[in-house]
Amino acid sequence: ELEVALKVVIVGDGGVGKSSMIQRYCRGTFTRDYKKTIGVDFLERQIDIDGEEVRLMLWDTAGQEEFDAITKAYYRGAHACVLAFSTTDRDSFLALHSWKLKVENECGEIPTIIVQNKIDLMDQCVVGPDEAELVARALGCRLMRASVKEDVNVGAVFRALAARCLAD
Ligand code: GDP
Ligand code: MG
Repeated sequence: ELEVALKVVIVGDGGVGKSSMIQRYCRGTFTRDYKKTIGVDFLERQIDIDGEEVRLMLWDTAGQEEFDAITKAYYRGAHACVLAFSTTDRDSFLALHSWKLKVENECGEIPTIIVQNKIDLMDQCVVGPDEAELVARALGCRLMRASVKEDVNVGAVFRALAARCLAD
């Protein structure tokens, strides 16, 4: 049986929870400690989409996003993308557009989901619900809200991306 392997890049400003999302999904753990890197290029997890086995390789950045220094190798061959921002960081929301362009420049049009992370901190929210929807629509992406900390919607994001890739 043919196994599908998908490279997924997770981009967005530093501190929005990208590394945490990958750790949560692939290792089932969450930590408060700010970890710049997971030490490897990617972590992987195998899932089943309608009887089809899919191997997801989730690529992390080692903090280079803060220096605008993500290499071409990071993006090369990516099949799908998570564009992440934080509920409590307005700059990370405003940066979505430029992240989308960077991915497009390197990968062309690939299935992309915008993830508003840290919805457990809604009391400190600095992004209106309507403006998030508007930006998602303008960028042609689906918007999903998640909490990596509380493990809300993390699996759903990657299942939706994998399903989109299989449907294409
Ligand atoms: P990255 O720079 O995008 O890789 O972000 P990290 O994964 O290193 O996370 C930055 C900080 O945000 C860490 O202290 C995480 O524990 C924290 N964090 C990540 N996801 C969540 C979340 O859903 N809720 C809360 N409250 N904190 C989170
Ligand atoms: Mg990180």
